[in-house]
Amino acid sequence: MSQPTRFTLPQADIPSQWYNLLADFPEPLPPPLHPGTKQPVTPDLMTAIFPENLVMQEMSPERWIEVPEEVRDIYALWRPTPLLRAVRFEKALQTPAHIYYKYEGASPAGSHKPNTAVAQAYFNKVAGTKRLATETGAGQWGSSLALACRLFGLECNVYMVRVSYQHKPYRRMLMHTWGATVHPSPSDQTEFGRKMLAQDPNCPGSLGIAISEAIEDTAKHPHTKYSLGSVLNHVCLHQTVIGQEAIQQMEMAGEEPDAIFGCCGGGSNFAGLAFPFVRKKITEQKRYRIVGVEPSACPSMTKGELRYDFGDTAMTTPLLKMYTLGHDFMPPPIHAGGLRYHGMSPMVSHALKLGLVEAQAYHQTKVFESAVLFARTEGIVPAPESAHAIAAVADAAIQAREAGQKRVLLFNLSGHGLLDLSAYETYLTGKLQDA
Ligand SMILES: *Cc1c(COP(=O)(O)O)cnc(C)c1O
Repeated sequence: MSQPTRFTLPQADIPSQWYNLLADFPEPLPPPLHPGTKQPVTPDLMTAIFPENLVMQEMSPERWIEVPEEVRDIYALWRPTPLLRAVRFEKALQTPAHIYYKYEGASPAGSHKPNTAVAQAYFNKVAGTKRLATETGAGQWGSSLALACRLFGLECNVYMVRVSYQHKPYRRMLMHTWGATVHPSPSDQTEFGRKMLAQDPNCPGSLGIAISEAIEDTAKHPHTKYSLGSVLNHVCLHQTVIGQEAIQQMEMAGEEPDAIFGCCGGGSNFAGLAFPFVRKKITEQKRYRIVGVEPSACPSMTKGELRYDFGDTAMTTPLLKMYTLGHDFMPPPIHAGGLRYHGMSPMVSHALKLGLVEAQAYHQTKVFESAVLFARTEGIVPAPESAHAIAAVADAAIQAREAGQKRVLLFNLSGHGLLDLSAYETYLTGKLQDA
């Protein structure tokens, strides 16, 4: 055997606390505002759609928040996730860089999203919620929440963007397998959905429309709360198990990363890997480069404005201070469906503004080129979303080669692409275009 390339932790090392970067930001995060009064939202406004325990987490100033035993027990189905060194990918890139990745595709839903879905279902269960309403784009979030609701005995009602409902059947089937109810959005289930359908019976839908429908559903059904799979502080919080494990595993490997990468849709998997390292930047004066990678077709961090904006199309959510392309921005139909969001997590936006992290954008042809090279060297077929991080890592590895520097690069492989193979087919048959 040559050098070790796979670093695994025992079940006992599943983190027992989530890390809250809100406690360590050098400047406080601008609060969400009430759209009418423009005053900071009060917890009672939030508890209309979220259970109180999650609202407290959303606003918590505590640095460490305990992971309940019930949640750790379910995390143990796939956590701790492995850290691997991509030696064959390094070789193909002819780089002196060492490339490590944290693999979140080993969860039952195939991505990092169950890390927060399980936590949210648990806190809703103990708060007395019977039913959760949510939206999903290509189905990664809907399937993760369907799984989590099933494990805690909650009903799950999902509004799925209509084009995906029609053209991406497999995650819809996964949701059905786990017992969720799935509606194509816009749907006839809500007033907002019926209004959109009256304007255009063939409306393809969007994430913003689906969020509006799920929030309306929550307001109109008893014992129902709303659940969001990205963007919010408590979602970023739950994902920090990724970075905490990665810090331990990089120590096992005997290396410190020079640069850390994650793809960004709403920002949660990036936050999950990055925030524990951001903490070391703030408290231990470490000098990592930490890079969020987004699609050029939906470039909220690299081309958007940092301002207060709505999280949804119907303008029903509180105003969030974030990098945004505008709540009515319609992203082009790129294959990384999970990255087609007009805004960015306020916490990630704040970290970017403070210079704690940076941002890059990539076109999807370049993304798939890197994804296929990765699949052909390391075996795992990455989700098109995750492949954005791989494209940025490949560039950094080539720069290291050209500069003759040994660099240590770490990225989050947020999910596998086995339910996204039609996108690979499009690329492999030369039909993929940049928007
Ligand atoms: C949903 C998803 C993303 C994007 O969401 P973030 O909140 O930005 O992490 C990235 N990768 C995969 C595999 C996803 O399913």
